[in-house]
Amino acid sequence: MTDAANGAEWARRRTFAIISHPDAGKTTLTENILLAAGAIRLAGQVKARGQNRRTQSDWMKIERERGISVSASVMTYEYKGLLFNLLDTPGHEDFSEDTYRTLTAADSAIMVLDAAKGVEPRTLKLVEVCRLRDIPILTFINKMDREALDPSELLDDIQDKLALDAAPMQWPSGSGQRFKGVADLQTGQFIRYERPGDDADPEKASDRLALTPDALNEIMSPAETEEITEGVELAREVCVDFNARSYREGHLTPVYFGSALRQFGVRELLDALVQVAPGPEAQPAVGGSKPELEPGDKEVAGFVFKIQANMDPNHRDRVAFMRLCSGTFKRGMKLKTDAGKTMTVSNPILFFAQDREIADNAYAGDVIGIPNHGVLRVGDTLSESGKWQVAGIPNFAPEMLRRARLKDPLKAKHLKKALESLAEEGVTQLFRLQVGGDFIVGAVGALQIDVMAERVAAEYGIDVIFEPAPYDTARWITGPDDKLEAFIDRHKSAIAEDIDGALVFMAKSAWEISYSQEKYPDIEFLKAKERR
Ligand code: GDP
Repeated sequence: MTDAANGAEWARRRTFAIISHPDAGKTTLTENILLAAGAIRLAGQVKARGQNRRTQSDWMKIERERGISVSASVMTYEYKGLLFNLLDTPGHEDFSEDTYRTLTAADSAIMVLDAAKGVEPRTLKLVEVCRLRDIPILTFINKMDREALDPSELLDDIQDKLALDAAPMQWPSGSGQRFKGVADLQTGQFIRYERPGDDADPEKASDRLALTPDALNEIMSPAETEEITEGVELAREVCVDFNARSYREGHLTPVYFGSALRQFGVRELLDALVQVAPGPEAQPAVGGSKPELEPGDKEVAGFVFKIQANMDPNHRDRVAFMRLCSGTFKRGMKLKTDAGKTMTVSNPILFFAQDREIADNAYAGDVIGIPNHGVLRVGDTLSESGKWQVAGIPNFAPEMLRRARLKDPLKAKHLKKALESLAEEGVTQLFRLQVGGDFIVGAVGALQIDVMAERVAAEYGIDVIFEPAPYDTARWITGPDDKLEAFIDRHKSAIAEDIDGALVFMAKSAWEISYSQEKYPDIEFLKAKERR
């Protein structure tokens, strides 16, 4: 009997994230997924331009604009007997390591592409992160109600830029004004798109008809019928077939087409998740009696992938978001960190029930929020025995480095504390040069630096300038002791330590890294550092 048939609660969990380049439609899709699944009940559009969306998550935005109550980091809905945890990956100007790290807590992802643009730079980066753990990716090509690239072109773009096999599950008929719907290649039906105004009832938006010339001619011109018939033939003959195993291994992405804004294709996407998205799987970990934590294990264990501060600006409280990997978590449970601290989790925030108050248990795949005063850090593992350490929660090499300079040098001690505290929270990374002791903060985007400066001023009352650093890129370095020593000796002024004391090479350019790599072949220059 399978675990799901066995009734194991964890086996019903599907924990996923949506990734996209800004403006491809992630927020709109998120909302429409929640609507289609019945998790929220309002219909309409979400959009706020010009407002201060910078430091807000998509869901806070939805919350504010729509007056609906959703949590900031994970939204749960039930659909066709499964329980979905949709993790928020802030993807706008506030793009940061949080986005990357959230993907370490997801079991699969939906990649949203703008049909007129295909794969964009941030899509590329996010897929790179999914690759670190071979997270399966399902693709939704959005905005088919606008002029789009040719479907073959979009599929080629995915194959070429992302090195993922793209298996069309549907084939669209036209786009923009000419968009008539999509052929479902699995069932051989045509799903009709009705333009708003044609019929405002979203339920009717996916009328299905037979994929035959006679049926199609009823809703489109003979030329269009011919075009879609040829498209379907081409897709069946030339394109990659869907293969569940390749998808699960992260080598192939099934591709769907639609319009999030018009709620077209969203239900099909939900159904696709039900059919193919994986539930919680074994998580590699060390310290215990075996090499991985399995979702069905008795012992409760999980890892912290995100820390959110300032939920209440009057307190320096933080909420640590823990993804459960095994066991049945119960409110009030005592858990230990891998660093040996014990905590009673008496007031966890449980996201998976409609009514947060009555939720008392959580299972592998679920996320719980643990309020704490800075005890927990990103990458920490919590378990009943305290022995486990989950592997593979990386820190990512920052793409922007700034030197922290104080206006008042007497505040150096305070600055150290503030920067360390914010780094522990995962707002930015912190490096300290071995020579001279300057603090260099690293971020993956400019906004992170702004947020950091604002918070240092507001919360610690320190005026600090983050000025350009003479470095461009940071790489964690490891290697045999003697080789490492020789390297450090030659590059004294460019060696720093991160907050855990790991060695980091601050390079002036990407070129300097490749040059150093050639000269010091025994040293590894790492773009991502695992906590352990
Ligand atoms: P995000 O930045 O990826 O979260 O994208 P948003 O969901 O905020 O969408 C960006 C813009 O595209 C907004 O103006 C949306 O209304 C619009 N949009 C999103 N989905 C669609 C769609 O399917 N069709 C059309 N025409 N516009 C869309």
